[in-house]
Amino acid sequence: MRTARDFHIAIIGAGAAGLMAAVAASEIVPGRRILLLEKNDRPGKKLYATGNGRCNFLNRGAEAAHYFSRESAESVEDWVVPVLQASPPAALESLFDELGVTAVHLEEGRLYPRSLQAESVVEALADCIRTRGVELRTQTTIVECRKTADGFILKSDSGETHRTRCVLLATGGKAGIQYGSSGDGYKMATSLGHRLAKPIPALTQLVVESPDPALAGVRVRGAVSLWRFSAAEAQEVSRDEGEIQLTADGISGICTFNISRYYEIIPNRSYAVRLDFFPEYGDEELFKFLKKRKQQLDGRSAGIFLNGLLPAKLAAHLMAEAGVDFVARSGSLEEEQLHRLVAQCKRYERRVAGTKSWKHAQVTAGGVLLREVDPGTLQSTKIPGLYFAGEILDVDGPCGGFNLTWAFASGRVAGMSAARSAASEENVRSSPAEPAAP
Ligand SMILES: Cc1cc2nc3c(=O)[nH]c(=O)nc-3n(C[C@H](O)[C@H](O)[C@H](O)COP(=O)(O)OP(=O)(O)OC[C@H]3O[C@@H](n4cnc5c(N)ncnc54)[C@H](O)[C@@H]3O)c2cc1C
Repeated sequence: MRTARDFHIAIIGAGAAGLMAAVAASEIVPGRRILLLEKNDRPGKKLYATGNGRCNFLNRGAEAAHYFSRESAESVEDWVVPVLQASPPAALESLFDELGVTAVHLEEGRLYPRSLQAESVVEALADCIRTRGVELRTQTTIVECRKTADGFILKSDSGETHRTRCVLLATGGKAGIQYGSSGDGYKMATSLGHRLAKPIPALTQLVVESPDPALAGVRVRGAVSLWRFSAAEAQEVSRDEGEIQLTADGISGICTFNISRYYEIIPNRSYAVRLDFFPEYGDEELFKFLKKRKQQLDGRSAGIFLNGLLPAKLAAHLMAEAGVDFVARSGSLEEEQLHRLVAQCKRYERRVAGTKSWKHAQVTAGGVLLREVDPGTLQSTKIPGLYFAGEILDVDGPCGGFNLTWAFASGRVAGMSAARSAASEENVRSSPAEPAAP
């Protein structure tokens, strides 16, 4: 078994953040002083599943304004700035290029490996740390992280212990639990005195109370908004536009994913999701547009009045909800029916029953409180030698490569900081004693 001073840094979790931290740290201290611990039988298991197997690994336009925090909603931008300044998307893109992963830009700043295979990203990182001699231990679940006078002792599920000067927690959150991130890092962080913003699933589907199973499979462009109700008020808490997907039990699609982080179980509060299938029109404009269309399609059946504007299944459903007689002529539609149709098209609303489980969430909102971590180094302000990177922190981003950008940027900053600190401590320890004053 290795003994006390063998490791400068132990990184717990070989996901995006942990792998990048190991790459960064091994630039500064010899790789054999770095231990990377992973509970799965291989590193980067979640990375293989990202971007539908293609891995949207960076967003070129990522900046602090893209990120959210549950506990530090107001100050998250200021907190994230130093991390993205030290490790901006352009620098990460160059780094990946050096490692052999050439990026291809598909849309809206989203970068993918040119191979369009997530394994290219995992292999490049794993190959780099292997070449630099980082010690990777897979099938090792860390169950305890204890502070000692001069470092930390880590205990694995097999009872093995590892002693290290610095610890970097890169265990992820709880999203995509089947890939290994089951909240272990939160337990370790809290056992060391850190506090959490309650983790909740984000970038996930909303489950609704009365779904329309007949609409399952419909994909339509529009706006989706989340409304919160209390006894006193109804408040729109988030809104996004894009492709909406209707499923057998709820509402999905990237724009729904993006607003899902705002759903939370709070006593005496309920939520509704509202879909607007014509966000480009106000109510009055849509009414005028439909009125004109009624004249244009005068002789045609009212049953197909919305066809060509919306997917047929959805169009028929909205017409039925608005009480339109399908066998009537479009020209016979009354103004009141058109107003009802406008309301259906712009305010299709369902009560939210919840979000999908952790297994279906792509990201965790919440995590280790940002005010207890120094954004310049990602070192704990409570426990010297303890560092954090990636999703374990109370930072989350929207779909589009922003979460992996965060994992890689924070992994790089934390890995470098931990290595610098360990290396400077080493120099102090190994430097000859000061000559005695004459
Ligand atoms: C299906 C899916 C698709 C996604 N697609 C994208 C995308 O295209 N673009 C994007 O930007 N983001 C995407 N994300 C989000 C992104 O993958 C995560 O935000 C990112 O992987 C977080 O990195 P991390 O290193 O912090 O955590 P993780 O990637 O979760 O890695 C944590 C690692 O720690 C290990 N671990 C946990 N506990 C222990 C322990 N006790 N001992 C040892 N090891 C432990 C886990 O096994 C895991 O390997 C997706 C997520 C999912 C689930």
